[in-house]
Amino acid sequence: MPDELLERLQRFQTDAFPAHRSHFRLLVDDGQHPMTLFIGCSDSRLVPYLLTGAGPGELFLVRNVGAFVPPHDQSQGFHGTAAAIEFAVLNLQVKRIVVCGHSHCGAIRALYGEVPVEATNLVQWLELGREAALPVAEPGPDVLRRTEQRAVVLQLERLMDYPMVRERVEAGKLVLHGWHYVIEDGEVHVFDVRRGGFVPAAQADNAGTGPYVPHAQPEVSTDEESTRL
Ligand SMILES: [Zn+2]
Repeated sequence: MPDELLERLQRFQTDAFPAHRSHFRLLVDDGQHPMTLFIGCSDSRLVPYLLTGAGPGELFLVRNVGAFVPPHDQSQGFHGTAAAIEFAVLNLQVKRIVVCGHSHCGAIRALYGEVPVEATNLVQWLELGREAALPVAEPGPDVLRRTEQRAVVLQLERLMDYPMVRERVEAGKLVLHGWHYVIEDGEVHVFDVRRGGFVPAAQADNAGTGPYVPHAQPEVSTDEESTRL
């Protein structure tokens, strides 16, 4: 029986790689200098390179269940996401951090349902999104959508508890972005702190900012397309 994955690996090197050889050579010789840390859900339908049109060397990727950010002060030890954030900010000096959730997210749905008891790590991990859940027992599509978006904002707020993140954001050297990708529409909704909600990318005037920008008089949106949190 042929090993499909092995065949794909072989095809990559013979068919696809030659067109990118010089680019990868450059990335090896000069090292990687990605401008963006992308924290996305592990969901197989979320494809960061497709969404952003990025190529090799452009995204420093961290993916986990729910696109969650663990607390900085409680993540001592073996915490891959926290380590990646520190590395991206301190070593790579990224200019942007994107937190990208998505529609039909199993992690968000799990906040309202049962998780197998033997999944002890998963049960604990989901607590990182708990605050985003709304007080309903049987969430409909609208509640799930709002929870997915609220979870993104929650992670942005938690990112700001990382001292090296807060320091650079406040100095204007780092920008946070909250995104919600609607799989069936192929559209990213970006968090707009001024509107207090998510705006379809087609109607946004920038890629979205986190809830850290001080606005003395937040604008009240009249745009029905934006989703109030
Ligand atoms: Zn997900």
